[in-house]
This record gives sequence, C-alpha cells and structure tokens, in this order.
Amino acid sequence: MTDVVIAGGGPVGLFMATLLLQQGLEVTVLEQRTAPEPHSRAIGIHPPALDALGQIGVDHELVRRGVPIRRGLALNGGRTLAEMSFARVSARFPFVLSLPQGCTEAVLEQRLRELDPAALHRGVRVTGLRDDGRQVEVQACDGGRPASFAAPLLIAADGVRSAARAALGVPVRHRDYPDRYLMGDFADGTGFGADAALFLAGDGIVESFPLPGKLRRWVVRLGPDGAAAGTPDTSPANGPDAGWLAREVRRRTGIDVDAGSNSMLSGFGVRSRLAHRMAAGRGILIGDAAHEISPIGGQGMSLGWLDALALAPLVPALLTGRRTGLAEFEQNRMREAVRAARQSEINMALGRPLRRGLLSARNGAIAAAAAVPAVNRRVARRFTMQ
Ligand SMILES: Cc1cc2nc3c(=O)[nH]c(=O)nc-3n(C[C@H](O)[C@H](O)[C@H](O)COP(=O)(O)OP(=O)(O)OC[C@H]3O[C@@H](n4cnc5c(N)ncnc54)[C@H](O)[C@@H]3O)c2cc1C
Repeated sequence: MTDVVIAGGGPVGLFMATLLLQQGLEVTVLEQRTAPEPHSRAIGIHPPALDALGQIGVDHELVRRGVPIRRGLALNGGRTLAEMSFARVSARFPFVLSLPQGCTEAVLEQRLRELDPAALHRGVRVTGLRDDGRQVEVQACDGGRPASFAAPLLIAADGVRSAARAALGVPVRHRDYPDRYLMGDFADGTGFGADAALFLAGDGIVESFPLPGKLRRWVVRLGPDGAAAGTPDTSPANGPDAGWLAREVRRRTGIDVDAGSNSMLSGFGVRSRLAHRMAAGRGILIGDAAHEISPIGGQGMSLGWLDALALAPLVPALLTGRRTGLAEFEQNRMREAVRAARQSEINMALGRPLRRGLLSARNGAIAAAAAVPAVNRRVARRFTMQ
C-alpha cells in the first residue's frame, strides 16, 4: 500500500513521481524495462517544459548536458529562405534544448533516486487493475512472478500502448497519417553549429538538428511506400541503411554526411491517439497514455511533463476522494494536446513532397511570411509551445 502507484517510468512517469515525492507523498513507480531505454527518440525540450523541470531542480543539469538551439533556418537549393530566432520566446530559456531522451531520463531517474531510492521498481509490468471506488489494486508481473500493489490513486504514464488505460476502459480516438520518416545520428560536419536546419526539398523535407558530442540528427521524409518520393532508383533494396540515408541527404540538400559515423538509425510512421478522457475512477492518464501526437515538431514529451505539473497540486485532494479541479485539469490538458496535434499536422504538411511549380510557390510564401517580424515571432512562439 502506497499513496500513488505510477504505471510507467518513462520521462513523464519519472517526472510525476519526483514532483509527488517532493510533496512528501509515498510513490511506487512500476516500469517494465529492466534498464533505461538506450534508443533515442525525443530530443527537443521546449522552454515551458524546462520551466516545469526547474520545479524538481534538474533544468540546469539538462541545459549543461544538451545543446541550446537558438535559431532555426529554412533552406532550399543552397539558399536560406527564412530564419527564425528563439531569442524572444522565453526570458529564462530562449532556446529549444536538444538532448537525447536516454540522457534526459537518466537525469530524471537520478533526481528521483535522491528523494527515494526505493520508489522505482524496474522489471515490473502492469497487467491489469481493479478499482473498487476507494482504492486501485494494480496487478503486475515482477520478473515472471505475479505481484500486486494498492493505492488510493493510480497515475497511468505507460505510453501509447498503455495497459493501464485499457484496464481503466478508456476509449481512444485513432488517426493514422500517410507520412513516414527515416532518422539517423551522424558526426556533424555541416558548419550549422547549434542551429536547426529545415531543407524544404521537392521530394520532401529533410530536418537537421544538433546533438551533444558534435553529432547531428537527420530526419528525411519518405514517400508513402517508405521509399524516397519519386525516386525509385534511390529506394533502399533491403530496407534503409545509413549509406542510403546519407545519399538521400546529399541528393536533397547537397550536404555530405559521413555514413560511417552513423550511431543511430530508425524509421517511424505517424499516428495520433487521443484518449476520450484523462480521469476514470481512481485512475488518471498522463503523457502519451493520454495523447500521442506526431513527433514532427517534437512536442509530445513536453506536453506530458506539463500534464504532470498541472496534476501534482490536485493529488493530495484526490487521495481523499475529492476531485476538486480535476474537470478543469482534464479540459485544459486535452485542449493543449489538440493544439499540439494541430501544430504537428501543420509541420508535417509543410514538409510533404511537392511538384516544382507548387514547391516554389510554397517556399516563396514561407519566405514572405517569415520576413514579417510579427509573423516570424508568432510562429517562433507556436513552435516552442508558448
Ligand atoms: C521518433 C520520435 C521522435 C520524438 N521526438 C520528440 C521530441 O523531440 N520532443 C518531444 O517532446 N517528444 C518527442 N517524441 C515523443 C516522445 O518520445 C513521447 O511523447 C514521450 O516519450 C512520452 O513519454 P511518456 O513517459 O508518456 O511515454 P513513454 O516514453 O512511452 O514511456 C512509457 C514508459 O512506460 C513503460 N511501460 C509501458 N507499458 C508498461 C506496463 N504495462 N507496465 C510497466 N511499464 C510499462 C515503458 O517501458 C516506458 O518506459 C518523439 C517520438 C518519436 C517516436
């Protein structure tokens, strides 16, 4: 028996747990993985999320480890179409921080362990739960053996395929998009420094972001069949590899990437999943368990952290069965999720393949809009979740 059981020890579950421990509550986090996830997914941390992470004192450590992206460039055919500065988006953090998700989770886990070395239970998979109206009993599999944990409140932060969400009986609205991407991390020989660069190419966008350790992440929009749009001769014969990605970057941007320096390669498709509600009985959904949005624009993890920040002050009352502020929490957070989902849809639409005539019209429109300072500032704020 504990105050709160949190299903899932990803970035959102770890942050939620740390906020609650700081409030003096007893917390049990159940995480199915026996060790932190080495594969890097999220890299972008937006200014409001850094402010939120400051509440548990990890903001400076994250900034120390990451690369602050202070400017974004839109380019095509060797020309800079637009520049966007993040200098005015936040007084404390006038940048988007780039840090691989594994490093971010390590910093969060360290802070959690400082407050309670026993709160995080690794290798424990949530399999079901029973809510009797007064408390939730969570059934789990702990290294192959059945286990159970009870608490007056369950917080489900177990990601897109949330077992806790299914057990709470919360339906999800699904949407699948035709967009597919291939991303890889390589040594950075570009000269872009800490700038992000978006190449608005006719065959689909190529995105490029700085990473710590003089690396760069390249993300290439693929055609619907997973090949490079309109170029069957360059489609990978046996699935994409680092050499293929490097050639595709060269073809669309003119930039040479050293395929031999590749340290991560991963393809992803795009879906959105919005839970019909975030609160169900004595369970609350946060993070990707409540809302999965397209990775393009990189807002999913920040959105989940802001859920946790908004939920933390309500938890003491929820433990006693009072649901004060919960309806408002749910309404505000789902509104933000819908807003972020729309923003990522716009980002995806801007990066789709286009024929030559339409391409120059679109790129011309982007350049003209970005040249208007008020529009440029507004877009910079939207990009950074303000
Ligand atoms: C390619 C890609 C790039 C992205 N880039 C960005 C970005 O730059 N910025 C950004 O903000 N977001 C980005 N995102 C989205 C971001 O990765 C997610 O929004 C974020 O990881 C959600 O965090 P979470 O803790 O809610 O879920 P998760 O990260 O999925 O964590 C859930 C945790 O729960 C555990 N778990 C699952 N089921 C169980 C169970 N039954 N029992 C116990 N434990 C369980 C999992 O092992 C996992 O550790 C990206 C996503 C992708 C795919």
